[in-house]
Amino acid sequence: MLYQRSSALFNEAKKVIPGGVNSPVRAFKAVGGDPIFVKKAKGAYLYDEDGNRLIDYINSWGPMILGHAHPPVVDAVVTKAKLGTSFGMPTEIETKIAELAVSMVPNVDKIRFVNSGTEACMSAVRLARGFTGKDKIIKFAGCYHGHSDSFLIQAGSGAVTFGSPNSPGVTAGTAKDTLLAEYNNLANVETLINANKNEIACIIIEPVAGNMGCIPPAEGFLEGLRSLCDKHNILLIFDEVMTGFRLAAGGVQELFTINADIVTFGKVIGGGLPVGAFAARNEIMNHLAPLGPVYQAGTLSGNPLAMAAGYAMLTELNEDKEVFNRLAEKTVYLHKGIAQALNKHKVTHTINRLGSMISVHFDAQPVIDFTSAAKGNNETFKKFFHGMLENGIYIAPSAFETWFITDALTYKDLDETIAVVEKIAPTL
Ligand SMILES: *Cc1c(COP(=O)(O)O)cnc(C)c1O
Repeated sequence: MLYQRSSALFNEAKKVIPGGVNSPVRAFKAVGGDPIFVKKAKGAYLYDEDGNRLIDYINSWGPMILGHAHPPVVDAVVTKAKLGTSFGMPTEIETKIAELAVSMVPNVDKIRFVNSGTEACMSAVRLARGFTGKDKIIKFAGCYHGHSDSFLIQAGSGAVTFGSPNSPGVTAGTAKDTLLAEYNNLANVETLINANKNEIACIIIEPVAGNMGCIPPAEGFLEGLRSLCDKHNILLIFDEVMTGFRLAAGGVQELFTINADIVTFGKVIGGGLPVGAFAARNEIMNHLAPLGPVYQAGTLSGNPLAMAAGYAMLTELNEDKEVFNRLAEKTVYLHKGIAQALNKHKVTHTINRLGSMISVHFDAQPVIDFTSAAKGNNETFKKFFHGMLENGIYIAPSAFETWFITDALTYKDLDETIAVVEKIAPTL
């Protein structure tokens, strides 16, 4: 396949946009080569600026769970746009999507809409601190909660009592309030809590991790966090920006029947427009301004186009809950097909999967946390990525990403994908 025009556009973009992209992972730095510039997309397919058709397994990093340009979502946006695109005043559609979201998600009474997953997680942490009157937070290595300062943290030299910045620009003062734990390691969390008695406001976690490949929680891990939080008066924040309205209508809380104290959303909830949200019980949400003292705001929050897209998307998911089973079945099919193709050519690998999230790791060991995810052979991944791309299959340009299965993918598309894996496997 030719990607000449994409490369030319990338060269132009680099002159006026840092690295040519508005979000780093788009730049193919982890795999080499130039990113593909997309012209349009429909259903399961991307059409790029060179006229290539690609089967899409990124789907805007999750939002397009029903496929690209899904007609009810597009119609809702077009209709709304004609009535004005932003007012900075309350609109009825905000209440409608809030009612629907609260009815779909267990254990929450109120929801506040923001513009991104980053904002949702940042605000959820502030709310947890305001509610508990404590400063420190625990996050897990390899979990991503957006690019706000408190989350860009690595383990510090005194790792049990403070973290250190992992991006220039994050101050040591901010970093010292974030503690880093290992995913799926309850004893590690307990150690951190005991070393910071009465100082921890919240534990924030991707309840099914999706930013180091797909890593499901080990049996009892989330339950263990729940009871540690109850015992030590710590709020449990489920970052469901990726998993919310994807793994089940009510997200991971519903899937594993376990309650979080605050839940954050993004991606699917906006139907492909810039939306994030956070939700909790009244007792917690009533601490937010203007009702309570914890400040949080946004000029474009609850934007009518974004709310219309999100409302159309959630309505579709709410009315056809079978979609989650269909997605899971397609993912199982893909898993089996890819595993068979790789095994046939003796390519060492591990595949992780839950619901419509799946990741292929080029290492024989189980991938259960950031350390094991990092052991994957990146040279093999690069060959795999470019082999797929050359044959019309678009997967994330990084070994640490989940693939997102959409309802628009047909079994024919899956077979085509598996055939490509089989074709390129001997070169890996
Ligand atoms: C994508 C993501 C975020 C950040 O959302 P943005 O909209 O990119 O700011 C936060 N948490 C998780 C789990 C995510 O997958």
